[in-house]
Amino acid sequence: MADFDLVVIGSGPAGEWGAVQAALAGKRVVVVEREPVLGGTAANTGTLPSKTLRETALHLSGLKARGLYSVETTLRHEATVSDFLYRERRVKGMERERILRNLERHGVQVVRGTGTLADAHTVVVQSREAPERRLTGDFILVATGSKPYRPPQYPFGDPRVHDSDEILDIGKLPRSLVVVGAGVIGCEYACMFAALGIPVTLVDLKHEVLPFLDDEVSALLGQRMEALGIRLRFGMNVDQVEVPDNADLPIRLTLSSGEAVDTDQVLVASGRTANTTGLGLEALGVKLSKRGQVEVGADFQTAVPHLYAVGDVIGFPALASTSMDQARIAVEHAFALSGTRTLAPVLPYGIYTIPEVSMAGDTEECLRERGVPYVAGRAAFASNPRGQIIGDTHGMLKLLFHRTSLKLLGVHVLGELASELVHIGLTAMLTGATARLFVETCFNYPTLSEAYKTATFDALDHLKRGTG
Ligand code: FAD
Repeated sequence: MADFDLVVIGSGPAGEWGAVQAALAGKRVVVVEREPVLGGTAANTGTLPSKTLRETALHLSGLKARGLYSVETTLRHEATVSDFLYRERRVKGMERERILRNLERHGVQVVRGTGTLADAHTVVVQSREAPERRLTGDFILVATGSKPYRPPQYPFGDPRVHDSDEILDIGKLPRSLVVVGAGVIGCEYACMFAALGIPVTLVDLKHEVLPFLDDEVSALLGQRMEALGIRLRFGMNVDQVEVPDNADLPIRLTLSSGEAVDTDQVLVASGRTANTTGLGLEALGVKLSKRGQVEVGADFQTAVPHLYAVGDVIGFPALASTSMDQARIAVEHAFALSGTRTLAPVLPYGIYTIPEVSMAGDTEECLRERGVPYVAGRAAFASNPRGQIIGDTHGMLKLLFHRTSLKLLGVHVLGELASELVHIGLTAMLTGATARLFVETCFNYPTLSEAYKTATFDALDHLKRGTG
């Protein structure tokens, strides 16, 4: 008999919630974690730290107050690195503690050390502090996450050149910053440093901001980022990187356009690589992609039937939110538990730029491409009483309805609380709701949520006029 019903490798959101799900079903579960702290990228280097820093940047810069009082408030005082990192450290600490308590409460054992697969049922755990352990499990859940990809032309040992993990350990705030890579992480960090008043240049080969967004929202976000002072250098690459030994001299990046950009510090945000090196997966017959991602089937089962993989280690969409749900499905499948065993058909995407952006469902471009007849309705936060009260006059909600059935097909929000507001539309889509829902719902007044009603009436008005 195996020591455990389930051995989980990794304690990020995928590992934590996979372990808890199995423990709730009465299974004997152990989590192996190689770092001294629990929580993975979400708690320690990615999701929560970056979101906390965003709030700190908004607070220190007085940016929210600008919209309220129409005054150009500059930084209340010269922010220091410890001002900047203070809350991030506290939030991180609390989250690590919460995860430990959550695992303890559900009777999940935690073993510290690096796990590797010795055979299809055995995880060997090695650490400097304790003798080697061999844990056997009926099922194994690989939830080892990912790490930043480091393009070879950047000297990452230099204290002025960072990846998205190292940016959390900066010794001093940059006098200027170039962010290379305008994916979600690059855009979020570019906004946060720009909000602090630091000159930021954002470089990417792409020609638009986050092309998976609805075009209108992507364009609006690009405008707001430029208004925040970010210099967008799109459609170009970094051809040359010169980092002088003398830290008083600037770093020089030469772009493919020929432009030379001098900067104090560089953040490279060029995607992520799965943590699968040395895990022993290939020897068991599990296939890996170019960036080390594990290939899985619909239930997150690998080619070895009792070995599952979830979260960042399998690649797209690589979000904390989806990682937790994937773990639930894998565990339900492994132990044949009752449950839906599928990911929700519509997923939300939250992007914590300044302003925040969120979406669920289709974009206008997707609908046009598929030839789906639709009508769009918009509500500007500037015409929403709550928008006026909080000073968010650039925000907007956009709804896309099927032109004949009036079923909600897409929701796009830019502005304050976008990642919260999107859930109203997301829930409506998951239940197959139509425009009628928003006409008949009584929303609190004044709220941003009310924008759902305004956008719906805008769509209905377009229908009446044959526009939109
Ligand atoms: P991880 O969180 O990476 O955890 C993996 C764990 O496995 C780690 O603790 C690691 O130490 C451990 N491990 C690895 N190998 C071994 C081994 N051999 N033995 C033992 N332990 C091992 N997602 C969102 O949903 N919303 C956001 O706003 C968001 N913002 C982000 C911002 C940034 C800057 C970054 C980098 C990511 C962000 N993400 C966000 C993505 C999110 O953090 C990840 O999708 C999520 O953490 C993946 O969870 P995971 O459990 O798969 O992996």
